[in-house]
Amino acid sequence: MSLLEIEGLAVRYGDKVAVDDLSFALDAGESLGLVGESGSGKTQTALATLGLLPATATVDGSIRFAGAELLGADERTLDRLRATRIAMVFQDPMQALNPYLTIGAQLGRILVRHDLANGRAARDRVIAMLERVGLPDAPRQAGAFPHELSGGMRQRVMIASALLCAPELLIADEPTTALDVTVQAQVLDLLDELREDTALLLITHDLGVVAGRCERMVVLEKGRVVEQGDTREIFAAPTHAHTRALLRAAPRIDAGGLRAIEAGPAVLAIDGAEVRYRLDGRQRLHAVRGVDLEVRTGETVAVVGESGSGKSSLVRSALGLVPAAAGRVLLSGAALPRDVNDRSLATRRGMQLVFQDPTGSLNPQLRVADIVAEPIVVHEPGVDAVMRRERVAEMLARTGLGEEFLGRFPHELSGGQAQRVAIARALVLEPDVLVCDEAVAALDGTVRQQVLELLGKIQQESGLAIVFITHDLAVARSISHRVAVMYLGAIVEHAATAAVFSRPQHPYTQALLSAIPVPDPQNPGGKASLAGEIPSALTPPSGCAFHPRCPHARERCRSEAPAARDVAGSRVRCHFAGNL
Ligand code: SF4
Repeated sequence: MSLLEIEGLAVRYGDKVAVDDLSFALDAGESLGLVGESGSGKTQTALATLGLLPATATVDGSIRFAGAELLGADERTLDRLRATRIAMVFQDPMQALNPYLTIGAQLGRILVRHDLANGRAARDRVIAMLERVGLPDAPRQAGAFPHELSGGMRQRVMIASALLCAPELLIADEPTTALDVTVQAQVLDLLDELREDTALLLITHDLGVVAGRCERMVVLEKGRVVEQGDTREIFAAPTHAHTRALLRAAPRIDAGGLRAIEAGPAVLAIDGAEVRYRLDGRQRLHAVRGVDLEVRTGETVAVVGESGSGKSSLVRSALGLVPAAAGRVLLSGAALPRDVNDRSLATRRGMQLVFQDPTGSLNPQLRVADIVAEPIVVHEPGVDAVMRRERVAEMLARTGLGEEFLGRFPHELSGGQAQRVAIARALVLEPDVLVCDEAVAALDGTVRQQVLELLGKIQQESGLAIVFITHDLAVARSISHRVAVMYLGAIVEHAATAAVFSRPQHPYTQALLSAIPVPDPQNPGGKASLAGEIPSALTPPSGCAFHPRCPHARERCRSEAPAARDVAGSRVRCHFAGNL
């Protein structure tokens, strides 16, 4: 008998089928990956297992846990089971934690509620669990509120809360999707360590995560299981077309990459950019520190780094959307005013921006035709309605959308279609430079791949220069000619993409690369080689800002900030690069 046995599970909302005839089993101590794109039924399966589906759902089939049927069980039984034997970790810990209670108080309540400990004993047990999940300075952090912790810390707290009652099964629903790659590796290591006592059902869209962490996997498509079995065997010889499509779309850091562009004049040049935010009377956050960056015609430069590295502040200051404290921005050789409001219409149309959230960046009250036409109305008021419509239809066609989309509203579009509309809107004025700020981060693998290919195709046709901000190095590898790696407001390594990925010189770049999960069970990557998280830019470390996390830090690193220098074809800020 397996620990969890799901047979013929079906979840419906009226006529809409969310899960259809789904069956799989999970043994004690095993780690099983439930894989699929958005809407494939992964989370619905987890919620059905925990009895957490809304009343509007119709559920059929069987879910047995340790031999006992859960479907149809009374709320009291399910409540006890959820707290003590099956626990769940969600993608967004902020939604699962009570913002009004300290971490210690809300974890302590779990123990009291289930009569497992009280008073001092409860507090000691909570702190021991917080220490076990690697929360630094656990006794002090127990007194913190959720908003006072970083995303990675909050996810550790969620895992601690899930494990307090020593469950036999942990269901983790995209537990690391919102985290930076280095913190993701730490959290996945933690889940691995806990496996001795707890079976793991890991729900993820990331085949790299499954390759390194799960012995078996179940692949879902539109609510149905299309393939399941041993992870190594499926990766070696996937039998279903959907599994093959997922594997093809999985970003890799050991494949692809574009050749460097021949040297030429820069379309966009950022020279000595400084961005400082004034938070209150005394505090100033130094987000960008003396950054130089150039991008040429037909070139894509990826700016990568963890959250808080200053990537978005850098490009927003180049666009004039946040005030630069110092430095110059040149578009085709002409210096631009720092504030977008002081820039001419001609220079504004020369640089366009595509955001991460495609649907949120489109006006919900306008049809697609009007959204894409809006920049023409503003910048070329002389163009008549017939000509405008022709240009809009042509631009949509270039982004792979037919005329049937002209009359649709944003809520009638999928994520990929909405991002194509956002790209069409940004390109309809034929700018020289396109800035993409995490433009594919919210998209599923196959759709992400299509949008990246679309950008590459448009660039080849038009010679567009692209600055592509991403936290995802595999995406950077597939789309860019050059890569700039940022850490705490400065570029620490800058080189041709092939050089960065084949011989990274800065210890931070090396750590980022080794933390990326690779969709290859033989060599899955995902190593947590960095401790802790990126420090706050409010209190940057002295000397080399990376020294508190650097495995190679020496005395000199603590006091002296490294200057940029050329090492083996890369521009690197490290005293010892080339000799590490
Ligand atoms: Fe590490 Fe020192 Fe190099 Fe900074 S300067 S990256 S601390 S070795």
